[in-house]
Amino acid sequence: VALCEAEGSPPAHPTPLTLELRFNWKLFWNFLHPHLLALGVAIVLALGAALVNVQIPLLLGQLVEIVAKYMRDRVGSFMSESRRLSTQLLLLYGVQGLMTFGYLVLLSHIGERMAMDMRKALFSSLLRQDIAFFDAKKTGQLVSRLTTDVQEFKSSFKLVISQGLRSCTQVIGSLVSLSMLSPRLTLLLAIATPALMGVGTLMGSGLRKLSRQCQEQIARATGVADEALGNVRTVRAFAMEQREEERYQEELESCRCKAEELGRGIALFQGLSNIAFNCMVLGTLFIGGSLVAGQQLKGGDLMSFLVASQTVQRSMASLSVLFGQVVRGLSAGARVFEYMALSPCIPLTGGCCIPSKDLHGSITFQNVSFSYPCRPGFEVLKDFTLTLPPGKIVALVGQSGGGKTTVASLLERFYDPTAGMVTLDGHDLRTLNPSWLRGQVIGFISQEPVLFGTTIMENIRFGKLEASDEEVYTAAREANAHEFISSFPDGYSTVVGERGTTLSGGQKQRLAIARALIKQPTVLILDEATSALDAESERVVQEALDRASAGRSVLVIAHRLSTVRAAHCIVVMANGQVCETGTHEELLKKGGLYAELIRRQALDAPLTEAPL
Ligand code: ADP
Ligand code: MG
Repeated sequence: VALCEAEGSPPAHPTPLTLELRFNWKLFWNFLHPHLLALGVAIVLALGAALVNVQIPLLLGQLVEIVAKYMRDRVGSFMSESRRLSTQLLLLYGVQGLMTFGYLVLLSHIGERMAMDMRKALFSSLLRQDIAFFDAKKTGQLVSRLTTDVQEFKSSFKLVISQGLRSCTQVIGSLVSLSMLSPRLTLLLAIATPALMGVGTLMGSGLRKLSRQCQEQIARATGVADEALGNVRTVRAFAMEQREEERYQEELESCRCKAEELGRGIALFQGLSNIAFNCMVLGTLFIGGSLVAGQQLKGGDLMSFLVASQTVQRSMASLSVLFGQVVRGLSAGARVFEYMALSPCIPLTGGCCIPSKDLHGSITFQNVSFSYPCRPGFEVLKDFTLTLPPGKIVALVGQSGGGKTTVASLLERFYDPTAGMVTLDGHDLRTLNPSWLRGQVIGFISQEPVLFGTTIMENIRFGKLEASDEEVYTAAREANAHEFISSFPDGYSTVVGERGTTLSGGQKQRLAIARALIKQPTVLILDEATSALDAESERVVQEALDRASAGRSVLVIAHRLSTVRAAHCIVVMANGQVCETGTHEELLKKGGLYAELIRRQALDAPLTEAPL
């Protein structure tokens, strides 16, 4: 436990971690190494294509030289002289095209497979994290790591290999051929290019900053829309459509301003760089021309020089763009790998299972203290002791916020206690297999059941994947759900809508009960299972729950006391501790907290609570 706490502490101080996220090269290597062969071939092809690109201007220059000679001397046959060069050029074009095709196909093969593997690994790692991890994180951000960040990392990776390799090779190769063509012109170019590149890089980094701000603004606008559409019922109920529209419009307005600023920046950059490139061409032609005039350079070589110097400039420009992409790709990768390397304190599997013949379902909480990891100083349970005898119903009552749901969470082992221990049939929960515990021993029904957006059949089968149709029907009958399901035109194939929105509260709850009952749990936890329902659905659901409770160890959590009369024993909680225990009559006679709660509820709702 002490070790777990040491590991579990980072979520408490997330800020320094997120600022200094380091790229995990080791994990990256794990994803890369199955593709090393393909990557090697891709690199060779990319290098080859780049080298061919360097060769092409040289041959073009020779061809121009032949043209010039023919125009000057007008002797011999142009066709026969140029045939060899032309076929060579055509061949090179073909080879270059093939190699480009080859390395792009390989890169997309590697990139897509890596992205898929990364998504799979990240998703499976996220699903395994502690519940405490999810308390501290926003779902939207986790999802965006799965989508946007992986996407960004993949495109950066592909770009580095394809453009990066090509640009570097072309810069180096072209510089070599430039200096062979004319050292003097190369020197001039070597002075002018870095100066221009410097200005370009400065402008580029400004543009990148703007572009990032643009992205953030778009994300903010999307957030507003997402919230409004996702909670459309609340928006409608408060007649807030107008305000949400205005909010979205404001965000869109800032989006537009930023995007237009970016557009102007890009336009300026393009205009200026066009001028710069054209001036470079003109300058080269002018100086090179005077060299040609002075017989120091051949016309064809000048042509080669021009093409090669354009290649250098284009390559360096793309390298500077690439640099920004690499920075973004690395930080996206760091975000992807961050949670892959994180191991939860409570693993999903491991530990022993109690054979079903020895399983009685007796639960004890022994001097349990607990505070939530994201709120370390605040003790929700203090020295809490409780026994759930096998096959009996124990009710847990107390004020809202008193820690009742927390008791259920500890039983499900969503968290481990800070001190003390929880046992099942005498075994510490920490020694038992958590998946077995949650999947087969405990059935949990909460106040707001969450269904999945599939059919009723699949929702019930979520409790036990291998259940037959017959088992599903039986569970539905037990949960008082069969009747209303059969009344739907599509019966068990009815799709329940996102999170089950197309069902009433009572119907949802009965499906949740069927889902919990289908696994035939030994222990049943009912956390305020009927408190969100109207009186009529409460009666139907309560009937199902009473039937389900027979012969099981049941923990009924309620703040409405009408639901706990059937319990064999009532435990009253206050300040994170047990303060009274006994049957309904005993506690009433005692005249303590329970009697007080009953009296207050009877006053609040004299009609429904009167029978107490
Ligand atoms: P009850 O079910 O009795 O109404 P809970 O067990 O839900 O009470 O909550 C007990 C206390 O723990 C409350 O003060 C609540 O604010 C806090 N709490 C509940 N869940 C969390 C959580 N995931 N993280 C931090 N604090 C929590
Ligand atoms: Mg609760």
